[in-house]
Amino acid sequence: MKDFGYTINKDRQINFDRTDKWIYEYLKKHEPSFKLCIGCGTCTATCSSGNFTDFNLRRLFTLIHRGYKLDMKDEITKCMLCGKCIMVCPRGVNTRNIILKINEVIENRKRKK
Ligand code: SF4
Ligand code: SF4
Repeated sequence: MKDFGYTINKDRQINFDRTDKWIYEYLKKHEPSFKLCIGCGTCTATCSSGNFTDFNLRRLFTLIHRGYKLDMKDEITKCMLCGKCIMVCPRGVNTRNIILKINEVIENRKRKK
């Protein structure tokens, strides 16, 4: 094949029927404000932890919505639970409680195994 000097990016389509959305379903049930998130990123812009780590709340929520698998435990331990994100969220998402619920669901799963 002719070398054009660039490569085509890998396909990033998501098959929603195949992704595992158990955390999303749990959060929808136990913290319904999670459904209100529009992914605006205001929480991330103001996040105390984001100033010192690569923690990105908006990214975390988007990945949960899409059913991506990532090490949630590692991610959420970066959050300091300061609550600044709740104060700025334009949709009234209870972000801090969502972090706590993610922790809860991970711990519950561990106990069942
Ligand atoms: S500020 Fe609220 S609506 Fe915006 S991304 Fe964060 S949680 Fe979602
Ligand atoms: S509660 Fe966590 S996610 Fe929210 S601003 Fe504080 S460190 Fe960031």
